[in-house]
Amino acid sequence: MTQDALQRLIPSLRARTLAWWLAIEDALPGGRGRRSLWSALIVLVMAVLVTLVWLAGRYEASQLQAELERDTANAVSDLRTQLSRHVQALQGLQSSHPSEAFWTLEAQSLLRENRDMLRIEWRDPALNLNMMADSLLRSPVFERVRRSEALNEAQQACLRAKRSSGPSYSHSYFLPQTDGLGMEVMDMCLPNTQDGVLVGFTVVTYGLQELINARLGVGYGRRNEISFTEPDGTRLAIWGNQSRGLRLFTAQQLVDLPGNTLVLRMDGRRGEPDLFPNVLTALVTAMSIALVTVMVLLAKDSRRRLKAENDLAEALAFRKAMEDSLMTGLRARDLEGRITYVNPAFCQMVGLPAEQLTGRNAPMPYWPPEMVDEYKQRQAIRLAGNAPPREGFESMFIRADGTRFEVLIIEAPLISVQGLQTGWMGAVIDISEQRRIEELSRASQERLQATARLATVGEMASLLSHELNQPLAAIASYANGSLNLLRDPAASPQNMDDVHMALRRIAEQAGRAGKVINSVHDFVRRRDQAREAVAPQALVDAIAPLVNLQARKLQVKVHTRIESKLPQVMCDRTMVEQVLLNLARNGMQAMDQPGNLERVLVLQVRRAASSAEHGWVEFSVSDVGAGIAEDVVGQLFTPFFTTKPEGMGLGLSLCRTVVEQHGGHLGFEPLLPRGTVFRFTLPAVHLDKIAA
Ligand code: ADP
Repeated sequence: MTQDALQRLIPSLRARTLAWWLAIEDALPGGRGRRSLWSALIVLVMAVLVTLVWLAGRYEASQLQAELERDTANAVSDLRTQLSRHVQALQGLQSSHPSEAFWTLEAQSLLRENRDMLRIEWRDPALNLNMMADSLLRSPVFERVRRSEALNEAQQACLRAKRSSGPSYSHSYFLPQTDGLGMEVMDMCLPNTQDGVLVGFTVVTYGLQELINARLGVGYGRRNEISFTEPDGTRLAIWGNQSRGLRLFTAQQLVDLPGNTLVLRMDGRRGEPDLFPNVLTALVTAMSIALVTVMVLLAKDSRRRLKAENDLAEALAFRKAMEDSLMTGLRARDLEGRITYVNPAFCQMVGLPAEQLTGRNAPMPYWPPEMVDEYKQRQAIRLAGNAPPREGFESMFIRADGTRFEVLIIEAPLISVQGLQTGWMGAVIDISEQRRIEELSRASQERLQATARLATVGEMASLLSHELNQPLAAIASYANGSLNLLRDPAASPQNMDDVHMALRRIAEQAGRAGKVINSVHDFVRRRDQAREAVAPQALVDAIAPLVNLQARKLQVKVHTRIESKLPQVMCDRTMVEQVLLNLARNGMQAMDQPGNLERVLVLQVRRAASSAEHGWVEFSVSDVGAGIAEDVVGQLFTPFFTTKPEGMGLGLSLCRTVVEQHGGHLGFEPLLPRGTVFRFTLPAVHLDKIAA
């Protein structure tokens, strides 16, 4: 476990509380509830906004309507003012008792000034026409229809005027014209009294169309359509063209005249763009857009936040799962050495719950009592920062049940997000099992080695007996010869010399037999594990007698080629001898086939050729035997694999183990045209090392 990994775990511990909160929040009404709340909020805000826009639109419409109403009211009042001015002007015309010529002049001037007056008549109290003047601005109105035929309305008005002693207006009526069209006109009758006596009437005929044109058209007709209508909506006179637009606003007002009531109607059209120019609408719309944007941003932000929270919770859950399933014990300590955190693996290791461990300081409950002092010192050194960081050290812990176990502790400084050291993080690995397995495998290796050696020795016993036969037979025959010579009564000094010679031979042969036995004895007994610097020659020499024993039996010639000035090799001498012996024996056995006439075994030692193995010494054993069959190659180093009836199949597997323990490599390759060569390497002792 690296320091980085340890440090990464710490923030996760701190954030675990947050993870719990998130989990609780998730358990509550949950994401679905939150979503529906959001939907409700969005719907509400949308509804409010739509209502606001609608209200603003309506407000604007009502503003327009009010404006139109105002215009209509103003128009009516303007109209009434104008009409009453006319009345005054006409009264002026009558009161001056004019001569006929003067009257005509005055009336003409009035008609010129007021285009809406079509004709002015001066009638006597019986309504007979005295004088009249037609407007010169147009053709006379009573041309197609005579005045006498259309006098009815005027008579009615004059009756009313007489009764009320004031001006009275007639109902409007249609008057066909010479151009084939017609027009709606209205008469106004003004009684003329002198000293309270009715002396006549002034009757003015108004054209309704001209009334609108002259009095209202300029002021109000630009944006609106102005018309006089009957109560049922029939238009009597109209001004202004219908401008195109979507929305029509209408306002009506009664023009209450004495004797007649006209309906003035104004139609105003306002198009779509009118929805926006209004400041309020624009403001509301802009605010709505801003509000919606803010809401969208908020929703986005909240979604991002939610995702981040989920990711965080997931990451935390993953880390927690990782921590809990970790086989390695984790232990965090603060700068005073107090335990701040332990993971489940650590609790399990020492057999104590986390509550009993966190907050504890030296001596820890898992320290063996006799080691407390030593461990305290060690901890003090570590806390003082004098120990190399991230370096593992082995230690002994004690479980709650009293059993002891070995651990490997790797401790590293705990660095906070701010870059300050807040304590120490340690990974604790229980290595007792590993140690036990190592010990077991070492013991079984040793046993296997011993077994293999004994097997070799067993094999050699037969060779020994064969080899000892010769010296023993020689000894026996020399002894018998000597006895015979000594038994001879006529023993001559010559005989004594022979006896001496025989005894010497006996001694020689006995010595030879002893050497044979000793070489085997040495080989079996020597169990020196230590590595030492050995000359390659010495290794070859040590196995030579045993190799020769077998070579003689199998009629094999053994050639030994040792490069000159070879460095010594660093090795476990006994083991390497065993390897050489195994390989030599295998080679010789491979050549032991009937009909195989060339039986040469070459033992060669030289410096390793490849540059990668510079500083290594290569041993090779080559034979000209049968070679290794394809199907055998894969299993060659498998323990207990053998093709020989009396074989154990352990030789090569042990050889490889031994060579690899020395850091070397054991391999083989076929020799052409026949045979096999086995090679292995051993590290050379460097000269400078020896000098040192
Ligand atoms: P053992 O010699 O007891 O059979 P080894 O592990 O030494 O066990 O050898 C395994 C097998 O490898 C042998 O049985 C043999 O078939 C084959 N072998 C080993 N060395 C040679 C060799 N030089 N030439 C041919 N075959 C060999």
